[in-house]
Amino acid sequence: MKEFWSKKAKSLTPYTAGEQPKERLVKLNTNENAYPPSPAVAAAVSQAAGRLRLYPDPDASRLCEAIAEYHGVRPQQVFCANGSDEALALCFSAFFQNGAEEAGSWFPGVSASRRVKTPDVGYSFYPVWAELFDVPLEMVPLKEDYSVDAEKMCGGSGAVFANPNAPTGIALPLSGVEEIIRETNGVTVVDEAYAAFGNVTAIPLVDRYPNLAVVRTFSKSHSLAGLRVGYVIADENLTAALRTVKDSFNSYPLDALAQAGAAAAIRDVEYCREVTGKIIETRAYTADKLQKLGVAVLPSSANFLFARFDSPSAEDVFAALRKRGVLVRWFSGKRTRDFLRITIGTREEMDTLLSALEDIL
Ligand code: PMP
Repeated sequence: MKEFWSKKAKSLTPYTAGEQPKERLVKLNTNENAYPPSPAVAAAVSQAAGRLRLYPDPDASRLCEAIAEYHGVRPQQVFCANGSDEALALCFSAFFQNGAEEAGSWFPGVSASRRVKTPDVGYSFYPVWAELFDVPLEMVPLKEDYSVDAEKMCGGSGAVFANPNAPTGIALPLSGVEEIIRETNGVTVVDEAYAAFGNVTAIPLVDRYPNLAVVRTFSKSHSLAGLRVGYVIADENLTAALRTVKDSFNSYPLDALAQAGAAAAIRDVEYCREVTGKIIETRAYTADKLQKLGVAVLPSSANFLFARFDSPSAEDVFAALRKRGVLVRWFSGKRTRDFLRITIGTREEMDTLLSALEDIL
């Protein structure tokens, strides 16, 4: 039946999200938050449900204000979307699609290649959007120690990378991030999906660099993967471009429940701090126990660990864990196939994982 498909649709390999298992497993495969959202979310969503007769606020103004206040930026510097996946897709469309190489020169003297640069181990959705939006992508190899090579990431017509990176969990220091922004002849998109679990963020740079877009999500730090809320913090000129593209698809940024729930979540600063603190503590505990089992882990600034397995192989350990009711993530790529990405769950979940590993190794 593919004869009805456009040439573009035929050429695409769609992104496949991590498995959402039907059976009861210890689910450590898609980096969801181990704890429920703030109780304020349910109250706000239920109140908003009483007004569902009405269309949502087309400017998501209360949510933009709450996000702006949280980060100390102006509401006009905030752009909201259905998850950071949509925010990232719109960045590809607004900043990279159809010849980013023709984009104006932000920094005279930077000689740009015609390609948008991204690390060769990174969020696997970037190549899918590049294909979808016809963006020429240059895959920049990670360094020997699996960190992002800031120097080699410079000089593109655009740049996109996750910081901390996924699936490695390693954060690039702010000096490296700034070097990339300064030496890119177009927009640099920094995907900070996991930044709340570390101590590096490019948000303070937004006022200095008109070519910087920082992408954030409520999915990980605020335990709201199911609500689908992400956002971009950038110069007002860039958020205006994102709104132009977004409004061409659907002029409502988010449904009314998502707007209300996310605003309540980001206002509950204390709850988020407490949950994030627990995850960071459990990450240190798990890393230590893994190392005692002889399993090396990369230094993580995220809510997951990237752990190396030699014998048995990571793929075999993945299967053996699954048999014991624990689901983690294995990626078949050349630089990733010796590792498992393990989401940090509750202390009890990590103890289940650790005793299963003890059994297997
Ligand atoms: N960026 C990275 C690096 C991710 O790992 C994910 C989660 N899969 C996302 C963005 C998207 O998250 P969401 O759409 O839930 O905000």
